[in-house]
Amino acid sequence: MSPFILKKNLLETWIRKKIGSKPDILTRQQLGEYQLQKIKETIGRASANSPFYRNLLKNFIDMEMSSLTDLQRFPFTTAAHIREQGLQFLCVSQGDICRIVTLDSSGTTGQAKRIYFTASDQELTVDFFQQGMSTMIKPRDRVLILLPGERSGSVGELLVRGLKRAGAEPVLHGVVANIMETLEIIEQEGIDSIVGIPVQLLALARYTEYLGKKISLKSVLLSTDHVPDSIIQELRRIWGCQVFEHYGMTEMGLGGGLDCESHAGYHLREADLYFEIIDEKGQVVPDGQEGEVVFTTLTRQGMPLIRYRTGDISRFLAKPCSCGTMLKRLERITKRKGDLVFLNEDHFFTMADLDEKIFLVPGVLDYTVTVDNLKCVTQVNISVLVLSEPRGDTKLAIYEGLSKVVAIKGAEQIGQVRISVAISYCRDALLPSPVKRRIMELKEADGK
Ligand SMILES: [Zn+2]
Repeated sequence: MSPFILKKNLLETWIRKKIGSKPDILTRQQLGEYQLQKIKETIGRASANSPFYRNLLKNFIDMEMSSLTDLQRFPFTTAAHIREQGLQFLCVSQGDICRIVTLDSSGTTGQAKRIYFTASDQELTVDFFQQGMSTMIKPRDRVLILLPGERSGSVGELLVRGLKRAGAEPVLHGVVANIMETLEIIEQEGIDSIVGIPVQLLALARYTEYLGKKISLKSVLLSTDHVPDSIIQELRRIWGCQVFEHYGMTEMGLGGGLDCESHAGYHLREADLYFEIIDEKGQVVPDGQEGEVVFTTLTRQGMPLIRYRTGDISRFLAKPCSCGTMLKRLERITKRKGDLVFLNEDHFFTMADLDEKIFLVPGVLDYTVTVDNLKCVTQVNISVLVLSEPRGDTKLAIYEGLSKVVAIKGAEQIGQVRISVAISYCRDALLPSPVKRRIMELKEADGK
């Protein structure tokens, strides 16, 4: 058996073992029966123990569930619910909670979103990390973790635990603050693989080349933020490594899915999470059709979530993956609800559209975008950070790239968009903070 064949089935094998399926081959029907049973248990437990779900589901608890489609009759859980009633979600006493993650406090209320985990919930994450990382590393590989990891139960610390179980040697570093220091660690520690944030790894790779360092890696896993193809191509070219992508959010218990060596969409963590894609009216759409990603936790004890609307836009890929697994495939996330910038009725763009053009330009490390909706024209201001003294052709290349974004090209032709690009030089090799990158929209800034 080739190493490729062996590796491709690891996630599927793990899921088969988790659901207790006896035959060697796991079928969608077996997985569906397991998921239905776990959904029933989750709904029963949440209705009995969580004040929030007791109220939300009071008219649904006697509903017969004979197939997974019956879940479609149940109401959604939203981020606003968690912000406003976070503690009311708990199915256990607060004493059983060992980790609370506080997320952004955006939204009209300004309230933070808090996600609660028990020790057994965190064990599920460690287990997924062990299996997921095993698909891309070998025992004794040295893996540098460029994610937050100071606190017990943080993503970096859970990844350390998962990697140790996989037989690897994790090196916990935290997010990159100083590019030179991190590059030295990669060299001195003999690092084989890195887990980190896309834009931070792009900066490390571009400095590797700029400084003429000889660094080659086996694999890189990108997580936390949208993963542009433009960054994947650069990491492969400079470090000669495979680049894997992880999809997840804290609400999912950090891990949601992972691509395989085919690199064509995420295979989902289907023994712990049940995913649906819905349209704007909340109706589940057929495989292949785009919509909002919704998930239900199947094994979470502390704070189960039922039909949680993620805000991410994607679709299930209808064709089987070339790796041969029966696990579902979710297309890479490139859009989030509310993150689309409309230039007119027909044309909109996203941060992902800009990423694919701007990160292709040599020397670019990072950028920010603000959009100012004036009366007759949309002003798009892009501030780009480059690694060496700015040159005229860098700015030109960015303008040229942006004019190839379909929405911008269309709106430019009829004078509805104006773009300005400012370039600054990263003098001290310090990176900006690794927050999720978003377009800042200054709506009706002219007092319209
Ligand atoms: Zn695959």
